[in-house]
Amino acid sequence: MTDISLDAIAEWTHRDWQQYAAKLPIDGRMLCGGDRVDAADGETVETINPATGAVVGHIARARSRDIDRAVAAGVSAHRAGAWSRMAPRDRAAVLFRWAALIERHAAEFCALDTVEMGRPIADMVHVDMPEALKTIRFFAESVDKITGTTTATASDVLHYTLHQPLGVVGAISPWNYPLLMAIWKVAPALAAGNSVILKPAEQAALSSLRMGDLFVEAGGPADAFAVVPGLGEEAGAALGLHMQVDKVTFTGSAAVGKELMKAAGASNLKQVALECGGKSPQLLFADLPDLDRAVDAAIDGIFANMGEVCNAGSRLLVQKSIYDKVQQRFAERAPGRYVPGDPLDPNVTCGPLVEYAAQDRVQGYKLCAEREGARKLFEETLRPELSAGAYVAPTAYADVRPDMTIAQEEIFGPVTAMIPFADEDEAIRIANDSIYGLAAGIWTSNLSTAHRCVRDLEAGTIWVNTFDDGDMTQPFGGWKQSGNSRDKCFESMLEYTQSKSAWVQV
Ligand code: NAD
Repeated sequence: MTDISLDAIAEWTHRDWQQYAAKLPIDGRMLCGGDRVDAADGETVETINPATGAVVGHIARARSRDIDRAVAAGVSAHRAGAWSRMAPRDRAAVLFRWAALIERHAAEFCALDTVEMGRPIADMVHVDMPEALKTIRFFAESVDKITGTTTATASDVLHYTLHQPLGVVGAISPWNYPLLMAIWKVAPALAAGNSVILKPAEQAALSSLRMGDLFVEAGGPADAFAVVPGLGEEAGAALGLHMQVDKVTFTGSAAVGKELMKAAGASNLKQVALECGGKSPQLLFADLPDLDRAVDAAIDGIFANMGEVCNAGSRLLVQKSIYDKVQQRFAERAPGRYVPGDPLDPNVTCGPLVEYAAQDRVQGYKLCAEREGARKLFEETLRPELSAGAYVAPTAYADVRPDMTIAQEEIFGPVTAMIPFADEDEAIRIANDSIYGLAAGIWTSNLSTAHRCVRDLEAGTIWVNTFDDGDMTQPFGGWKQSGNSRDKCFESMLEYTQSKSAWVQV
């Protein structure tokens, strides 16, 4: 079913989505050379709906032979120039048509990510779809803004620089926003003129495959974009080790990021761009301007998308003089805001976790928090009829010490750790005591406190008196083990180019 506007699906009821999802066409074959094909050895991987345990479909289990095939096509497309040398405005036109086609299939994309990953349908309709379209259109608008420079050489020399595509880019995406995270990588890499091989996460690959189909339908050269699903340690690792992949751009865990850096060293020294995990702190100072707003942002910052958010505000640092008040307000305002339920229901804000293994892992962290002496401040009700799904009740712990496991490790679930601090110095020290540095939030009325914290916090994004806001112009990425590159923003597209210096003796 196509041509249903985003406005129209915003009105759909739970029943509408259930009926639509029951008839979703599922095709998990890989996209290579513009065609859907099986993996070379015909093997597949099951994908499961984490809300019910039902099988959604089977995706191709690509291995190194399949990656070789996609890369060979990408290399020849790059050399032939059908995409890499296409006039920038023509390339932009393809990207605009691609966005329009994805928009026409919005219902399908929203439903696919919800049934595979458990993301609430309302978030798909109101956040991921509009953001995905904005991302493609932003980079389409940017294609003809890439410029080189002429430099101040002697008068008998003309020296200029060019930004040219790298060649073949391997994009490895996670499952937590399946469509959107893939598009954050693929759109700028394609816009810059590269051939792209996308390896989506095995838990939620179907929307990536469909966006590949639509790129070809939009007039994109068939060999310039392949979508090759499969397991990380097989298809993903093969991309990382491939001698003809010029760059791997990755979003996922720091552990896999390290493997990809090793693989680059063991193969062709390909560039490796990493967007990894986080343990983002929110700092609530006693002089914060609006307690309810800060507490709501603290709740949303950890419970939205079931806490499966790289920049989730998973550490809540609260100044001692307002510590009791913040706990009380949290316990009053959190109940009812993220009640687990069927993610196909537009009124539901909290779905299941992505898979049963994640449910076990997060439950394990809760037990560990209690064993190490944290106090449970809040736990949402989990209705017994949800027991077949991978649900975890959103939970907050107070009296957490900075050295406890839940204050140090990325849980990637709806669990927050409330930590008291005495003053600004201690707050900064606790906030920076992490291997990660993706984002942080500060709540204060004091301009000097705010700017000092912006200066001193070790993170790629700092929000002041807000949390988790964003714009396409904002570079997004981490410090320390949270990563080494930036998504979104014009500059991120330049990361998919290489500069060339031309020296012309006149
Ligand atoms: P993951 O690292 O397990 O998997 C991510 C991707 O890497 C998947 O496609 C997977 O198949 C692939 N992969 C797994 N093993 C591989 C290997 N050995 N070689 C190559 N590829 C391999 O992460 P995940 O569980 O899918 O995602 C959660 C992580 O992603 C969290 O740490 C989260 O913070 C991070 N994340 C970061 C950002 C960001 O922008 N910084 C955004 C979203 C998620």
